[in-house]
Amino acid sequence: MTKPVWPLQSQCKAFYGDPTSVIRGAPAPNAEWERMHLVKVFIPWSAHASWDKDLRIRTLRVHSKCAASLERVLNAIWEAVGRDQNEIDRIGMSSVGGGHNWRLMRGGNALSTHSYGCAVDFDPERNGLGDNSPAMDKRVIKAFTDEGWVWGGQWKRPDGMHFQAARVD
Ligand SMILES: [Zn+2]
Repeated sequence: MTKPVWPLQSQCKAFYGDPTSVIRGAPAPNAEWERMHLVKVFIPWSAHASWDKDLRIRTLRVHSKCAASLERVLNAIWEAVGRDQNEIDRIGMSSVGGGHNWRLMRGGNALSTHSYGCAVDFDPERNGLGDNSPAMDKRVIKAFTDEGWVWGGQWKRPDGMHFQAARVD
């Protein structure tokens, strides 16, 4: 199968649509866009919210254009660890930081790729923003990059928890 080619970050609006509506002069989430484009991808292992260990997370909400790809990524990770929940826990993949989330980028007015539903975060506890030695497992990184997703762990300001179906400009 050929690797999907994702849009550049600057082309996200053209590719994924506009997740923003302007309400009384201020940017806000676009509920109509969310209804039209966001779908849930099943997580094959047992997972919880990174901010609340008692909150079970069964799905990630992402854009329909990258949902099938994310499903392949998660299944590939599950196979790569031999469908072993203990191994998933050990490498931090049972801790889910989130998928779609409408928000501006830190320190700027551009939208985060999470706003387009084309980004997911895992194991933020050990892969914090700015952490120069993120703990993300190589098999996880490979499963994502095999599908053309970009890992944030190698950026100038590393974001090791972050994977996105958008290329960096
Ligand atoms: Zn992220």
